[in-house]
Amino acid sequence: MIVMKFGGTSVQDAASIRNVCKIIDSRKDKRPIVVLSACAGITNELVACAELAADGNREEAQDRLEKNVYERHYTIVQELIEDLREQDLLIRHIRQHIDDLSHLLYGISITGDLSPRVLDFALSYGETLSTSITTVALREAKMRSILADSRECIITNSAFGRAEPLLEQTRIACEANLLNHVMEGRIPVLQGFIAANEEGITTTLGRGGSDYTTAIVGSVLHADNIEIWTDVDGILTADPKIVKNARRVQEMSFQEASELAYFGAKVLHPSTLLPAIEKNIPVTILNSKRPEIEGTRITALTARTDSAVKSISYKRGITVVNISSTRMLGSYGFMKKIFDVFDFFRTSVDLVVTSEVSVSLSIESSPDMPGLLRELEQYGTINLQENRAIVCVVGEKIIDERGLAARIFSRLQNVPIDMISQGGSDTNMTFVIHEQYIGEAVSMLHEEFFPA
Ligand code: ASP
Ligand code: MG
Repeated sequence: MIVMKFGGTSVQDAASIRNVCKIIDSRKDKRPIVVLSACAGITNELVACAELAADGNREEAQDRLEKNVYERHYTIVQELIEDLREQDLLIRHIRQHIDDLSHLLYGISITGDLSPRVLDFALSYGETLSTSITTVALREAKMRSILADSRECIITNSAFGRAEPLLEQTRIACEANLLNHVMEGRIPVLQGFIAANEEGITTTLGRGGSDYTTAIVGSVLHADNIEIWTDVDGILTADPKIVKNARRVQEMSFQEASELAYFGAKVLHPSTLLPAIEKNIPVTILNSKRPEIEGTRITALTARTDSAVKSISYKRGITVVNISSTRMLGSYGFMKKIFDVFDFFRTSVDLVVTSEVSVSLSIESSPDMPGLLRELEQYGTINLQENRAIVCVVGEKIIDERGLAARIFSRLQNVPIDMISQGGSDTNMTFVIHEQYIGEAVSMLHEEFFPA
């Protein structure tokens, strides 16, 4: 059995859903369970409607609901579903949901109450609609699909907006409400992102939560494989905007994928895959627009390939804060004081390098900077380096690789390096440069580690 997840862009219109049906058809011997996101943009639209209603703009909220949510799904159904009777039934079903949502918006506008619980309920409609439509489309494509209800499968705590699964209850529920269908040759279609607490009240797993749903289902049901279908070929060796011959990474470890995600590779948030990785279930990232490409396979551990380096990534918008103080000499508690300031300003620190009398930290540039600096000034002399970027060379155990630092920095002879960090993790080697050198640095390193 496998679990296949399709993100919002994969179900954004009739043509995309038709394509999804083809992909599922090609996998039907593997006994798939299908998890879907809402059609691209719909969750944001629902957030906007709910917020408008809460602010008392009831008519605008209703208008948006009709134009951007109802009509969008209506058009998809009209273009997608051929059987007129099925089409009619489905449109009535969607109309009913939109009417319910419209009442909900009315209630929100009267009470002005948009609690996380109410918002979760409103947002759940996005996935409910996309799965209802796709289930019918699969049936028309001659597959035995069945609409499952993730509220009966994923059982969570009551942390609305960011609920966490109760794994034992979820396992029992998934066995009862999904596995039975799979065993009998049906293809369950499940909403990503939404779930319910033990009282059956709708919760959500947080934005982008469909990947998490997929990993949870795969994990509790011991799937053979998890397929995350998105709109890129997988994880690449570098940003293709900078490196034209960037290649797809065929296999990478969970640790490597996590380092990359941290430094801005936007394909997915690996932490959401953790439930699957912990059970050793491989996760493959695939492109629904180019299904023939094998994608990137993420596993708990991977075999070493020729190059220890798997990918080179970077993150812009970094400021390096240097604090130097002779008072720091031989004193303790200094770091705590400094970190308390960052904590107070909710600023996360990416890299830290210290010497006897100074400390350099890299942070994301933020509008709170002046306040933060004023606080820090009491501890020493501050020196800023702005418009910087972090470049990160990622690969399992690359730190053990002899000569790695030499290879990196001799390639970058003409690029001034502001800060270097190695050893915090054995999976990356990280340094800071001025943003103007990103293109040069990333392409040089790509040439070094992935020669054509
Ligand atoms: N539809 C939800 C969102 O946009 C969940 C997801 O797409 O994974 O956040
Ligand atoms: Mg998504």
